[in-house]
Amino acid sequence: MKRNRFTIHTNVSSKPSPTEAGMPGGGGRLPMLSKGEILDSSLQSARRPFVFTLQKREKVKKRNNSERFCRSLDILIKFLSRRMRFKRNGSYTLNRKGKGKPNGKKAVVEEKKHYLEPEYTKVRVVDFDLKELVMLPSEIDLNEWLACNTTTFFNLINLQYSTISEFCTGETCPNMTAACSQIFSWEDEKRKKIKCTAPQYVDFVMSQIQKLVTDEEIFPTKYGKEFPNSFESLVKKICKFLFHVLAHIYWAHFKETVALDLLGHLNTLYAHFIVFVREFNLVDPKDTCIMDDLSEVLCTPPPPSAHNHVTER
Ligand SMILES: [Zn+2]
Repeated sequence: MKRNRFTIHTNVSSKPSPTEAGMPGGGGRLPMLSKGEILDSSLQSARRPFVFTLQKREKVKKRNNSERFCRSLDILIKFLSRRMRFKRNGSYTLNRKGKGKPNGKKAVVEEKKHYLEPEYTKVRVVDFDLKELVMLPSEIDLNEWLACNTTTFFNLINLQYSTISEFCTGETCPNMTAACSQIFSWEDEKRKKIKCTAPQYVDFVMSQIQKLVTDEEIFPTKYGKEFPNSFESLVKKICKFLFHVLAHIYWAHFKETVALDLLGHLNTLYAHFIVFVREFNLVDPKDTCIMDDLSEVLCTPPPPSAHNHVTER
């Protein structure tokens, strides 16, 4: 059977008005039918829909002299009712729920973390201990140091994402995915979750951070201007979102990053970022645990005696 052959109306969501229910060919709209009735879409334009009512079922039964044939039709109607969702205008979409293995079990998706393979984790652009790089210098104010590093990470992660952004579209990334089947969803001002694609999510993240880091009241640059009390919590929020972007690049755009010969930059940026957020407890460990395996490999400083070969310029 062709998918576009039939339209089934169920009036579960809305009861038909008496005029709609009783006027098969009248008005500008097609009649609402009861559950289990079939409307032949080829007749829709002629406004003479074929309705599979109980009376017609009996006629079919008599004509074909077969109760079995009618039962098959009943089963078909039941099946279609379960597998489709119907709109009020008579069109339908296939119900995605229940799409799985015939026994009802969900197909197990194998997660392969290519970025953990040694041939990839050894690729860096610098080979020194990143901890020294993130430690607070004695003569610098903590907030000043956090502001400076956060702004730098925002620019670098934005730049890293821009290298693969043409591959991150609504079609390739309908969700903001990351390792361990993680899907991040955006929350609006009222903390209501918004379903969005990965490029939309990254756009929300980058726009919001851009707004914060350029706000003179939050990231002051003028001499004598104080940081607000909420500064640390805002920095934490920024770091959490930046981590999501990095996690998505590793999960969904790793191959493209390797193909562009930018893995050294990604690994170094990621390790630098993780060492920084750990040094100042800026992200809750449970929020970054999905990437702990990679963090351990990339953030462990090389033993002093080992010759750490830098593979990228
Ligand atoms: Zn993507």
